[in-house]
Amino acid sequence: MDVIVLGGGLMGTASAYFLARRGARVTLIERNRIGTGATVASFGNIRRTGRHLSQLPLAHRSLKLWGEADKMLGRDVEFRASGHIRLIFDEGSLTDMRAYAEAARPWGLELEELGQSEIRARFPGLGPDAIAASFSPHDGSGNPRLIAPAFAEAALKLGAAIVEDAKIERIERTDSGFLVATSEGTFAAECLLNTAGAWGARIAAQFGEEIPLDARGPQMGVTEPLPHRILPVVGIWTRDKDHGAYLRQVERGNIVFGGAAERVPVDLDPGHAAADPTRLPLQLRAVARLLPAIAQVAIIRTWCGCEGYMRDMLPVMGRSATTEGLFHAFGFSGHGFQLGPGVGDAMAELITTDRCETPLDDFRVDRFSRAA
Ligand SMILES: Cc1cc2nc3c(=O)[nH]c(=O)nc-3n(C[C@H](O)[C@H](O)[C@H](O)COP(=O)(O)OP(=O)(O)OC[C@H]3O[C@@H](n4cnc5c(N)ncnc54)[C@H](O)[C@@H]3O)c2cc1C
Repeated sequence: MDVIVLGGGLMGTASAYFLARRGARVTLIERNRIGTGATVASFGNIRRTGRHLSQLPLAHRSLKLWGEADKMLGRDVEFRASGHIRLIFDEGSLTDMRAYAEAARPWGLELEELGQSEIRARFPGLGPDAIAASFSPHDGSGNPRLIAPAFAEAALKLGAAIVEDAKIERIERTDSGFLVATSEGTFAAECLLNTAGAWGARIAAQFGEEIPLDARGPQMGVTEPLPHRILPVVGIWTRDKDHGAYLRQVERGNIVFGGAAERVPVDLDPGHAAADPTRLPLQLRAVARLLPAIAQVAIIRTWCGCEGYMRDMLPVMGRSATTEGLFHAFGFSGHGFQLGPGVGDAMAELITTDRCETPLDDFRVDRFSRAA
């Protein structure tokens, strides 16, 4: 089987790797460089807590693969299962956390509840005013700069062709499949997998599938390096989006943070998302609630990335509803980093076997037209 994968972010490179592992002849076409879209901008959170329940089977599948990534890809992609703590500052959020924990248990996610003294003993310096927290010990983080190139290299070793800097001139359905004409050559295959991220809805529209997708940029920042003290990824349970910050400390010592600030709107042409410095003070106030010591530290960089958001915050994944041989995996709505390896594996299974052991029904491309 021949497959063209269009878009070389985490979803495209992971799909190319797992397709090649299943024996497909793969051509991955990226119009820029591998991994330079939303993937490289990611905060790097490998978090299951708070996910939509129907996404948990895919998240579990993905977490298992993150755990195998170094061995599978032959390189350290800095996945660290150092845990994910979400602090709680008010009774309403405690109620929300408990309700989520109970609902998520049958879906295979076990959250520990920590009290004030346990937070202080296990995680000194975090959230001094927190009244409780949830803790997910097997979650953690990975390096957003490494993962897509690592999947692409591993796919290449399995025989996949990787085409970068390709200006797409034409995508056509032919009698035998698909033809993609680019500045780097013309490619043909039986199947086409659309992993074009925030640009995925444009590809789908070429096949008569109108999907409402909003391109937005979450804003991140990073501090100077400090001694490495904070092991888990830190977040919050809150109903107030102005408080919804998160942070983690990388092993080199820098503290990366995000959340709280509104996501900036992004024009898909050219698709460059720029951080808005006026949003930084609000963001830092929210981060300081989780880690007061941040007030003593210099911020050295802020950035943003172009991500595709769906209105129900669930991705589009699975077969096209209009075109035989076309598949989609895009619109990961700000939380695709954790899912990436699982998405690649699940899409490769679906394309090569016509079935998928992980339920993908909630992510159907035609759910918007069916709801109308
Ligand atoms: C700032 C930020 C922080 C985030 N933090 C987290 C996090 O902590 N945890 C988490 O789980 N998720 C996070 N996410 C979300 C996550 O990073 C994304 O969901 C994920 O990386 C999406 O991967 P992708 O492959 O679908 O998209 P991308 O990485 O955007 O890849 C799509 C690729 O398709 C290419 N392309 C577009 N059109 C075409 C075309 N016509 N032909 C060929 N190529 C094309 C683009 O150039 C791009 O390289 C974050 C996102 C952002 C922006």
